[in-house]
Amino acid sequence: MATGLKLSGVAASDGVAIGPARLLVPPMVVIDRRISRDLVPAEVTRLRQAVTSTDEQLALLSARLESEHLHEGHLILEAHRLMLRDDEIVEGARRLIEKDEIAAEGAVRRVIDGIAATFARMEDPYLRERGADVEAIGDRLLRTLLGLPAALQRSPLASAAIGVGSLLSPIDALHLPRSGLVGFAAERGGKTSHAAIIMRALEIPFVVGVRGLCAAIRSGDKLVVDGSRGEVIVGPDDDTMAMYEQRRSRERSRAQTLKSRSIGPTATRDGVRIELSANIEAPSEVAGALELGAESVGLFRTELLYLDRPELPSEEEQFQDAVAVLSALGGRPATFRTLDIGGEKLPLAVTVPGGTNPSLGVRAMRFAFRRPDIFRTQLRALYRASAVGPLRIMFPLVSGISELDEARRLCAGVAEELAREGLDFDRNLEIGVMIETPSAALTTDHLAGSASFFSIGTNDLLQYTFAADRENEDVAYLYHPLHPAFLRLLKSAIDGANGAGKPISVCGDMAGDPAFTWVLLGLGVRNLSMSPRLVPAVKSIVGASRLDEMEALVARVLPLRSETEVEDLVMGVMRERFPLEVDSTEKV
Ligand code: PEP
Ligand code: MG
Repeated sequence: MATGLKLSGVAASDGVAIGPARLLVPPMVVIDRRISRDLVPAEVTRLRQAVTSTDEQLALLSARLESEHLHEGHLILEAHRLMLRDDEIVEGARRLIEKDEIAAEGAVRRVIDGIAATFARMEDPYLRERGADVEAIGDRLLRTLLGLPAALQRSPLASAAIGVGSLLSPIDALHLPRSGLVGFAAERGGKTSHAAIIMRALEIPFVVGVRGLCAAIRSGDKLVVDGSRGEVIVGPDDDTMAMYEQRRSRERSRAQTLKSRSIGPTATRDGVRIELSANIEAPSEVAGALELGAESVGLFRTELLYLDRPELPSEEEQFQDAVAVLSALGGRPATFRTLDIGGEKLPLAVTVPGGTNPSLGVRAMRFAFRRPDIFRTQLRALYRASAVGPLRIMFPLVSGISELDEARRLCAGVAEELAREGLDFDRNLEIGVMIETPSAALTTDHLAGSASFFSIGTNDLLQYTFAADRENEDVAYLYHPLHPAFLRLLKSAIDGANGAGKPISVCGDMAGDPAFTWVLLGLGVRNLSMSPRLVPAVKSIVGASRLDEMEALVARVLPLRSETEVEDLVMGVMRERFPLEVDSTEKV
């Protein structure tokens, strides 16, 4: 048992970080300062100058991130620049200066608090987290007005320390490696926040939603942040520290060993070729994915370009984004999933009908059909990029043949249009379907007539099979990829595709869990697409196994009646045979 005060939160980025706490300055308290009427024009000028100067700071930082290929960071900062210059902030603050005769700081503070409070009241967790972006912009603008340095800058104090704060903004997350912090714990925030996405890409342990965190910690306190389990240990005793230190070094050497084995194409011991691909969200991730042993991009989630910005990305921007992915892949293929927004992913630039049950409402292809203008712009960009390298298009959340045929009709229209305009594209471009609804999983044999390939999105397929919202921690206990019902559904989808001679892969989180590798390959899948850092462990298992062993396990598993029986059998076999690959986070 670990000793010390244990605080629980939500695991947002894997790994263990150990070090002294560095409590980051809470949001700045600014007191309204009254000014005389004749100073009002000068104060408005000071506000405008601070906005210009803050924008210049952000532009510099944004350009640096782009030159360092941190494309996500660059996009977020560009979105922040647009928000900063938006009338809601600048004009809102100007009006307050003039009406209430107060200094610019107080006016900015009030406007930012007002906007942040509106976000905080939103039901949707994704939108709620966008409040963090507004607060980050406000913080930067206030610091410029007050002549203070940015919140997170390199300082000797930060060296190998763990940041603790009420909330981590996406900008601060991008600064973290430079600031010397090795982990972070925050009172607020969620798994789907941009800060969490960035922390995972940077591989820095991160725990969010830890109630009472700031009150329980003083700067300098010894801390353990367990980003794999979502825990923070304050003041661990020596034995507990030793346990976590051991686990941290085991995790590091495990990752190193597996990475060193992850070279060359993947095949089973009896020579069956298996393709391992990467799931990515930005061109900058390609190089790292190839280094970890991925052979292609199996899922490019295109949403990142749409989120967090007040206008839609242009055809040209989307074209350049796709070309950047293909160029970095140097001739290896990439599968682009068309826009999957709605549900918890809502862009600022468009209104998506929410309904009482957003993940059962207008999402993914359903949104594409409501806004064919947006969908066609994306299709044009992807079709044009197909002239540059091997590119496939895949539709998310298709529920049946009619939707698929309608989507293909729109594709055909775009292809005709480009041909008329004399623009180059791949005339044999492959179009595939994500299997994310039970209705699609049960009819891959029919869908095969209109699809070149399939990819199973197990995250959504689980949510829709068990009627359990994937964003709701309270029903997370219902997620059982080895549940007999789910295995039957997978089998039906895989058999239907294989029977029709159409390739089927898995690209949901299940594909990257080494404990499930035998089950998925034994069921007949030959391509797995996963977060790049998971490739080495899965590759190691495939290379050490024979296909008949995997099929034999599946034959024993299919007749079992409960998820517990299946899990006991599969985990027992996999843990015994592959302790290094499967047990990444043993119990402490
Ligand atoms: C899935 O649902 O499994 C999937 C890969 O898509 P996303 O996680 O982006 O919804
Ligand atoms: Mg999905």
